[in-house]
Amino acid sequence: MNANANAHAHAHADARAQSDVNADADARADRDDHDGKGRDDRHDHRRLGRELGLFDTDPLIGAGLPYWLPDGAVVRHTLEEYIRTEERRAGYRHVYSPVLGKRELYEISGHWAHYGDDMFPPMDLGAEQVVLRPSLCPHHAVIYRSRPHSYRELPLRMAELGGMYRAELSGVLGGLTRVRAIQLNDAHIFCTLDQVAREAGDALEMIRRAYEALGITPARYRLSLPGPGGKYVAAPELWQRATALLTEVLDRSGLPYEAAEGEAAFYGPKIDVQVADSAGRESTLSTVQIDFHQPERFGLHYIGADGGKHRPVMVHRSVIGSVERAVALLVEQHGGAFPAWLAPTQLMVLPISEAELPNALALTRRCAERGLRAEIAGPERGTLGARVREARLVPYQAVIGAREAADDLVALRLRDGRRLGPLPAEEAVDRIVALTDAHSTALWEDTAS
Ligand SMILES: [Zn+2]
Repeated sequence: MNANANAHAHAHADARAQSDVNADADARADRDDHDGKGRDDRHDHRRLGRELGLFDTDPLIGAGLPYWLPDGAVVRHTLEEYIRTEERRAGYRHVYSPVLGKRELYEISGHWAHYGDDMFPPMDLGAEQVVLRPSLCPHHAVIYRSRPHSYRELPLRMAELGGMYRAELSGVLGGLTRVRAIQLNDAHIFCTLDQVAREAGDALEMIRRAYEALGITPARYRLSLPGPGGKYVAAPELWQRATALLTEVLDRSGLPYEAAEGEAAFYGPKIDVQVADSAGRESTLSTVQIDFHQPERFGLHYIGADGGKHRPVMVHRSVIGSVERAVALLVEQHGGAFPAWLAPTQLMVLPISEAELPNALALTRRCAERGLRAEIAGPERGTLGARVREARLVPYQAVIGAREAADDLVALRLRDGRRLGPLPAEEAVDRIVALTDAHSTALWEDTAS
């Protein structure tokens, strides 16, 4: 294990908790993708991303710098909104902070010394040097420090979906899983030592709920500990205390987990939720970390009930990690058939002939008013059978023939092959909206009649 593999472990979810072995596997996967043999890559997110028009890359923009096409942007936006809403409900407040920071900021945080190999080179700006940030933590620590805080404000939960950058070598870049520009679902909870276990446990529960809504299955839960020879900040007693707290949280959660040495962040141990891609390669998506180091480095404090200054603890947590890796995983685990609430097009309207076009238009307008993403595939796009096949990844298809048009009905087909009898267009929209609003992974629920 080299020092770099330990340094990786930084920062959150996207912290690439992948070893060099995985990097080799990525390179192999690239070759497989090109020569079209080897493993079954039908669910490879890079291939599906292109086929479905979700994202792409261009050599002129650069390796590891994917751009998002409109359908991919819809998925990403919907995912981000889901996260922000869940965070607001859980008492988080959102902030924005810049993707650049002065070199000194990262010298104080320890990134410069412990994570420098993964950072882009600094840019000279007059007498100063600025860097593209490798994590959001230092900015959030500074934001916390900018105002005085009383113990009554704790736990103070600060969240941001923000950009960060990693100087990955071009040989290991691919699709959305290894990128140089990362949008991280990040948050830092500033709290007292007594509050840590509760906050970390709640974060773990938030992760579990998100996975349920997203229909994704973790490969395993990992308690990531320091290993021999890595670059870690000193203070063994703080590491022990943080490890004991995370162990307590995992034991109380009832989730099966295993401890892994050499996977900790440089500033503390963490709980990692591991996921596997279509080729079986494992990576970290979500994470919960306890950090005594950064509060010390940045001189953070709050005024306690005794009127004195006390040091808060920082809990770093990410629910879905980076949106890039989360979307890659969603594409692979669902083969492009996203849960209905995330699907770029949720309802495909299929008028049998030109005569039903006015009804089809009225239905898409009704959907738009209700926040449902509907499109029309008209008869100019082929036979009904061909249009149904073409829309096979769309969760709902509404067929409108002469009989349905006359009574404002739709014949609904579900992506899983189920066909529902004609029902009033308004009822169909109501029931779909109820399911998507609830972030359900079920396509339909039979109501008691
Ligand atoms: Zn952090």
